[in-house]
Amino acid sequence: MQVDEKLIRSVVEQVITRLGANGAGAHVGGGTKGRFGLFTDVNQAVAAARDAFEQLSRRTLEDRNRIIGHIRRIAIDQCVELGTMEMEETKIGRLEHKIEKLKILGERSLGVEFLHSEVFSGDHGLAVIEHAPFGVIGAVTPVTHSLPTLTGNAVSMIAAGNTVVFNPHPSGRRVAAEGVRRYNEAIYKDLGIDNLICVITEPTLDTANAIFKHPDINLLCVTGGPAVAKAAMQQAKRAIVAGPGNPPVVVDETADLDRAARCIIQGGAYDNNLLCISEKQVFVVERVFDAMMAAMDRAGAVRLSAREVDALTKAAIASVGDGDKKHDVPHKDFIGRDAAVLARAIGKTVPSGTEILFGETDESSPFVPVEQMMPFLPFVRCRDVDEAIEKARLSEHAFRHTAIIHSTNVHNMTKMGKAMDTTIFVKNGPCMAGLGLGGEGYVSFSIAGPTGEGITTPLTFTRERRCAMIDDLRILGK
Ligand code: NAD
Repeated sequence: MQVDEKLIRSVVEQVITRLGANGAGAHVGGGTKGRFGLFTDVNQAVAAARDAFEQLSRRTLEDRNRIIGHIRRIAIDQCVELGTMEMEETKIGRLEHKIEKLKILGERSLGVEFLHSEVFSGDHGLAVIEHAPFGVIGAVTPVTHSLPTLTGNAVSMIAAGNTVVFNPHPSGRRVAAEGVRRYNEAIYKDLGIDNLICVITEPTLDTANAIFKHPDINLLCVTGGPAVAKAAMQQAKRAIVAGPGNPPVVVDETADLDRAARCIIQGGAYDNNLLCISEKQVFVVERVFDAMMAAMDRAGAVRLSAREVDALTKAAIASVGDGDKKHDVPHKDFIGRDAAVLARAIGKTVPSGTEILFGETDESSPFVPVEQMMPFLPFVRCRDVDEAIEKARLSEHAFRHTAIIHSTNVHNMTKMGKAMDTTIFVKNGPCMAGLGLGGEGYVSFSIAGPTGEGITTPLTFTRERRCAMIDDLRILGK
């Protein structure tokens, strides 16, 4: 995609200046109409979202469709401007992918069409099970895809008849606020309802907690790493938790190695490895290990020597915590940065356009257990497929998020599928194929592993209600 960076930068600066100057509380007059979803105060945001929910409850499905249509249109038509804004604010990932992610979520998030009812028809009449909204949802979004996650969540949650208050990651709050403002303004102008999507413009852990505990929040949906996943699961209300991943890849001796290399680069390098589903460590059977490394070379990845891998480990992996709590994490200066930046840190120059670095390690390398979120992939040599699957399983920490195999042996695929027990299991494709992007199925950027809802849809955000007619309305038979 061609991007006029200068033009975009000037628009972004104007928007950020305006947001900075006006903040969230700038609207005068006390009421919440015309706030377009921007709030600093959690109580006000929840009250506005509740009021919007009451209004939405009186509208038709066709109106919900129109509302979602505005969100889709803005996400698609303004993806370059908003994607650039996200890149400028978060400073992680790749511009082309920031733009593409927003467009994809606008185009393909599931909407009203995904809702359906179930019917039981029998001797005693009819029972219809319908899917009702929860009410006001409290949602937390990650810095890795601030506005895309918010957009996908908003489409599916509103499709199901809910409204939502978002606590975005502080480092992606401005683009979240600007997207929310644009979505609400368009919806308000067309349908007269404001604040269907609310956002806390100065989000903190305290505002997240206030949302978690608010009596008028009916459901939580959090997307993020281990800390927020744990916090959400400790609440006294239902939480849909899209937690962390550390997706391993297994390559066995039957794999098409060139295809495997292309797929691993496509998934592992996407947005500089920020996706929770992205390939993070690769386990290759001994028999094809050297050939697989050569396939990675041919596909354009840049191989690091053992000495260079050591140097990168020292630079890009940090240790935090004390005693039992001590553990490795990715150094924040390297998260989501370009392969060239990683290379430069170890005094290496890579050809322009290099998307990813890779190198041989063993499983004791911190790059294996750590969710690195940067474009370096460790490749581990394994005796056979059983050892590869076992090492893959251990490296995933039982997050049960995503796993990938390249193989043409269905027994190996089956063995790995069973061992990993992940929400997403991709065979012979890049990770995103598991989200329907080059594979079958649908997309969402909230993949709820820990709480079991899987790749979220509008139905995820509904409660079942049964309507029973006794002894009548079955028009069949006796
Ligand atoms: P993060 O965990 O640092 O932050 C995520 C969100 O949670 C942010 O809004 C943050 O402010 C908030 N948060 C963090 N700790 C909290 C706490 N104790 N209480 C309340 N809120 C808290 O993660 P990130 O760097 O923004 O995103 C990357 C992480 O998210 C990775 O671990 C990735 O795997 C995961 N992720 C998962 C999915 C999924 O669908 N399962 C999707 C995207 C990202």
